[in-house]
Amino acid sequence: MNPVSVRDIPLSRPDFDARESAAVAEVLASGWVTQGPKVAQFEELVARRVGAAFAVATTSCTTALHLAMRLAGIGPGDEVICPSFSFVATANAIRYAGATPVFADIDAETWNLDAADALTRVTARTKAVMPVHQIGLPADLDAFEPFKRRGITVIEDAACAIGTAYKGRPIGGSGNIACFSFHPRKVLSTGEGGMLTTDDAAMAARARQLRSHGASVSDHARHGATKIVSEEYRELGYNYRMTDVQAAIGIVQMSRLDDLVAARQRIARRYDEALAGCPVQVPARPPHAERVYQSYAIRLLPECSLDRDKLVESLMEAGIACRRGIAPIHVEPLYRQEQPLTLPVTEAVSARSIFLPMYPSLAEGDQARIIDTLQRLLGHSSSKELHPRQL
Ligand SMILES: *Cc1c(COP(=O)(O)O)cnc(C)c1O
Repeated sequence: MNPVSVRDIPLSRPDFDARESAAVAEVLASGWVTQGPKVAQFEELVARRVGAAFAVATTSCTTALHLAMRLAGIGPGDEVICPSFSFVATANAIRYAGATPVFADIDAETWNLDAADALTRVTARTKAVMPVHQIGLPADLDAFEPFKRRGITVIEDAACAIGTAYKGRPIGGSGNIACFSFHPRKVLSTGEGGMLTTDDAAMAARARQLRSHGASVSDHARHGATKIVSEEYRELGYNYRMTDVQAAIGIVQMSRLDDLVAARQRIARRYDEALAGCPVQVPARPPHAERVYQSYAIRLLPECSLDRDKLVESLMEAGIACRRGIAPIHVEPLYRQEQPLTLPVTEAVSARSIFLPMYPSLAEGDQARIIDTLQRLLGHSSSKELHPRQL
């Protein structure tokens, strides 16, 4: 049982204040609440920030990924290589297009898609490969160049990666299609929301049509016209429109992005330092990548005798929300194959990793409590005095 005096610490928390509230109020008062001027402004800000020629807002990263599949011409009979070590949405988007996800293993250090393993899974039907910038660490994009040389499209699942960079270039600005998420557990949030970025004008135009039932003219464009504008529907589209209410929140969040990322990086450094002497693997920091720590995950090393699930439960009993690490997609009932697939690194990392609380407003005192509790459970004697509850 939690002692009453101890506050529960959440796993994650979006960071909104009076500025977001005021922006929402302004949209409600304006009378234009869906995909209008605020969405256009938000798209402009994201495109400029990530260095892409175009940004197309959607209802989520999942729907942006679905549009990406359509833009890449992926359909039934096609295969798309992706990590199993990801949120299920990564694979679901492939299935929405009628294609088959082919799971490849991850790198043990970075937990990102292992390009070499992915290459061994290429077949005549492979249309695309989907590196995921998992929990905010950019994938090694250069390692995916061999796919492009074979005519395979690279689509980046950048759900967790707004504000980060690969070899100095912002994620989203590589020339590939990249898809971002603005879910509350991500670095920047609009409640729900997503964004697709591309340098290809024709793809951006088609994405804008597909997100609004395939209409040849947008509501926003029709609104500005002085004559009758008739739209046509030439292909099957969707309703993946972001609201102006969400975009108004996003515009404010973009102005705060650097601060939100810096706060996450400060918290990550404190975890890194505190856990240096513990039998855990802390998040990798490869030289090619900045990282935004959408989450902070550790992995219990073989020399740590603790049971992972028991550790998670002990932390939860201490009022500290935490979660087991990313669950592999290939063992979910929906994705289990007749010939069982084995992905050794994915399975090893998943079985022994946990997410710790990570959000910009995590107070230093709360983080100290998390660290003390974790160090005690990991059997590491802290240099600080013992908390009375530990005696
Ligand atoms: C969160 C997440 C998604 C889905 O994002 P939504 O905006 O919730 O659809 C997809 N891929 C990865 C890697 C994610 O972490």
